[in-house]
Amino acid sequence: MEIIVGRKGQQSVAITDLSVSREHCKLTSNSDGTYTLENLSVNGTFVDGKSIVRTQVTVNTEIRLGSSFIVRVRDLLPSPVSVPSGHSSQAATLSSIEKEYQEKFRKLKAVYDRYSADKIAIQKEAGINNFYRMLPMTLMSLVGLTAAVLPGLGNFAPVVGTAGIVLLIYSLAKSYKGSKENPEKMEALNKQFMIDYVCPKCGNFLGFVPYETLANKSVCSFCKCKWT
Ligand SMILES: [Zn+2]
Repeated sequence: MEIIVGRKGQQSVAITDLSVSREHCKLTSNSDGTYTLENLSVNGTFVDGKSIVRTQVTVNTEIRLGSSFIVRVRDLLPSPVSVPSGHSSQAATLSSIEKEYQEKFRKLKAVYDRYSADKIAIQKEAGINNFYRMLPMTLMSLVGLTAAVLPGLGNFAPVVGTAGIVLLIYSLAKSYKGSKENPEKMEALNKQFMIDYVCPKCGNFLGFVPYETLANKSVCSFCKCKWT
């Protein structure tokens, strides 16, 4: 079987997107159940966000034609095909695929909100550590100042000195712990965020950009799929 896909193509769904050529690409069935996808358009045919010339795909592969038309191979085929791996053999409609992306995209709001909250919590913690670091220094200088203005305190000099050393060690330990702990926590948080905050379609990390900004943009800059 071989079909031409495009605005004037033989596929089972009508295509009106103007970035799709009249004859945009060709699908040829292979004996092993896969399909060979061949680009015929200057606007390009994309698999996983990459422009292809000719590649092997399955019925479940999602392809993009031109700048924004996204479709699964099975939805282009003329008759219902058996779909492996527990999927319903009922071909998904185009709108249901788009709805799926939109729904997944909306879930990114919670991902971003959680990230912001965690980030603030880590920064707050760093602030508290900073306070602990500064507190002994302040106390030490107060003690030193008091010792200097009270002449009778001469005998207590070793005690004051010892207290000063203890406070110094304590403050260094605190600041060391704080400086070690927080960048690690921040790094782990950022790493996880880069895994979770991705385009529902192409899986590319969307950047440290607020959800609202992305929602306003509404289109993925990598795969051009529509989110809203
Ligand atoms: Zn994308």
